[in-house]
Amino acid sequence: MSKVKVFYASARSKVWNYEHSLPAKLEELLDRIDLSKYITAKDKVAVKTHFGSQGAFRVVRPVFLRKVVNAVKAVGGKPFITDTTRIESLEYLEVAAENGITHLTCGAPVLIADGIRGQDSTPVKIEGHKHISEISVANAVYFADAMIVVSHFKGHIQAGFGGAIKNIGMGGVSPKTHCGGHNRGRLHSVDDKLPAWDKKKCNWCGRCEEICPVEAIKIDKKKSYEITDEACWRCGRCARICKQKALDMPITSERLNTHIIEASKAVMSTFKPKKVIFINFMIEMQPECDCMPTADVPVVNDQGIIIGDDPVAVDQASMDIVCKAKPLPDSLASDMEVTEIGDTFAAVNKKETHLSLEIGEKMGLGTRQYELITVVKKMKKSKLSDE
Ligand code: SF4
Ligand code: SF4
Repeated sequence: MSKVKVFYASARSKVWNYEHSLPAKLEELLDRIDLSKYITAKDKVAVKTHFGSQGAFRVVRPVFLRKVVNAVKAVGGKPFITDTTRIESLEYLEVAAENGITHLTCGAPVLIADGIRGQDSTPVKIEGHKHISEISVANAVYFADAMIVVSHFKGHIQAGFGGAIKNIGMGGVSPKTHCGGHNRGRLHSVDDKLPAWDKKKCNWCGRCEEICPVEAIKIDKKKSYEITDEACWRCGRCARICKQKALDMPITSERLNTHIIEASKAVMSTFKPKKVIFINFMIEMQPECDCMPTADVPVVNDQGIIIGDDPVAVDQASMDIVCKAKPLPDSLASDMEVTEIGDTFAAVNKKETHLSLEIGEKMGLGTRQYELITVVKKMKKSKLSDE
């Protein structure tokens, strides 16, 4: 497969003027990829990001979302900022506002992609699937004409890292199907199973009950422990945070990443070719996902922004850059004695970060072969062809 172009701007800014700032470099990256090739006048354009959580505040900042919105408007598109719900939808909109993501700050409407119950979605068949044959894509994504996937690149306790692929595969589908069945959670579990609770290992700390976004866990005074089947979204958060390993959602990394790639393919299949662009922000790269109730300090320094139209290439390029960064002191990396340059996300999360990239390429989501074109500052459009 031939190499695809991805454009990169470093987070370093050594010259004290606006043209060398990261927001200015994002403008240049958006110019360089040329949105007019992807968006036609009046296209409804989903700017798909992650709204974060009350405690995980290191989301892509509104200053960058606004640049994306402005660029979409400049080519005649109709942008809206969106994310699928992670907690109750109306509360999730409050979280977005708390993290600064509003119509006023971003310059475009902010919508929950799958409605007030997380089930405004459309079932989509997955071509060439191995495990999941159909998944429900959130309607605001399904019905959009084009999409710009704006991802906060960071570690992930279960998948190893989160970037472009995860933002579509996990973030583009609803927690519920349109008729109320389990949906996104099926990606975290095998055959839709509930987390299994092991009484012998449980110390009744209650953290799982606290973290469950839908109050599916009920613990009664150290006497009874119940997970309600209909309420549980199968998100796996309870199992991920249980220090006693008393909750188990048995799934291998290979299986989880295959599920995510299958769902990503479903989301991508709802767009015509060349209608989706991916932007990864390698900034404030904490070890865990933005849906957790807190954000630790970054494990590597800010690296910058990557943009391209292939999710696998964009994630591969981002990983390659992060793998050349030194782990930061006073972070989870140093706590775990990860001090050498290398795959810090894999080391701190003890996961195989290459799996989603390899499976993504194998299943035809994209290519790992890319040409990195570095942008150093904002330039006038007329000078772009000089480089
Ligand atoms: S987090 Fe784990 S140890 Fe704590 S109550 Fe839940 S299952 Fe038990
Ligand atoms: S998997 Fe755990 S945290 Fe997630 S909804 Fe079910 S019980 Fe709640």
